[in-house]
Amino acid sequence: MLPTHSGSFRLFRFAGIQVYLHWWWFVFAVVEVTLRSRAYASFVWNVAEYLALFVIVLLHEFGHSLACRQTGGKADEIVLWPLGGIAFVRPPPRPAAELWSIAAGPLVNVLLVPVIWGLMWARANLGWGIDFPDYRRFLTAIFWINSGLLIFNLLPVYPLDGGQIVRSLLWFAVGRARSLQIATVLGAVGIVALAGGLLWLQPERWLMTLLMAGFLGQQCLAGFRHAQAILALERIPRHADFACPTCHQSPPGGPLWLCPACGGRFDPYSTVGVCPHCATARAGIPCVHCGADHSLAQWGFGRRSRPGDPPVIDV
Ligand SMILES: [Zn+2]
Ligand SMILES: [Zn+2]
Ligand SMILES: [Zn+2]
Repeated sequence: MLPTHSGSFRLFRFAGIQVYLHWWWFVFAVVEVTLRSRAYASFVWNVAEYLALFVIVLLHEFGHSLACRQTGGKADEIVLWPLGGIAFVRPPPRPAAELWSIAAGPLVNVLLVPVIWGLMWARANLGWGIDFPDYRRFLTAIFWINSGLLIFNLLPVYPLDGGQIVRSLLWFAVGRARSLQIATVLGAVGIVALAGGLLWLQPERWLMTLLMAGFLGQQCLAGFRHAQAILALERIPRHADFACPTCHQSPPGGPLWLCPACGGRFDPYSTVGVCPHCATARAGIPCVHCGADHSLAQWGFGRRSRPGDPPVIDV
């Protein structure tokens, strides 16, 4: 079950990115804040620590989303739920775009290290917040929270960021589908090892560990299936005379599109978007590779009128 925004409510919108908060966050907030009630002299710092975790996760997800936008990809949703944040990113299918969209998340945590060090330095040398005895403990706590998140996310286990970075690097060498296949198989092994290690280190948190392993395992399986689907798609011959304006890939030939009017299958690239079963014309055709929707003109239907090019079919 990949968390979607169902069971979540809209928190705010920033730079066109809608942030959702899953209601489970509140359950975890109560448990966490109460469990740590003895860590600080004042209860307020427990709440502050949990809010800091929330902000760190949010900044990490914004790192992914904004980097994905930079590559020309789609990223307009972030869901915060108890096992972490999810940035729904869809970079254009190029290894460099994928790599930057993934690496920008952990990079935010790397940049937060000197920020937290700076606050520690200012407290010790300039006396900032020196009147609050809990502030020092709070800074130490958020330093370890940030470092912990960074190390965990960089584990080379798909679908964690580290595993996805490995996948993007493999993409340069073995292509889109094979890299995903290799990364997800290695990911499955990694998840079992990770869950085993955590169960051994902290057996009392077995439920949390199993939930996490199940969640990661499901995403790993979905990734593997996606790789199989891309491989199947790559075997189909393509319409070399068309290219998607977004991902520059040619569409596969064959009746792979459903007519929204009659439900019949057809190949819109060989009929100029007209369904051969019911004669309904499509205004646009979605790209099977990246999902971007483009009009017939954007696909280049009207352009091929130079002598020697295949004729434009009249309807
Ligand atoms: Zn991440
Ligand atoms: Zn495309
Ligand atoms: Zn039809």
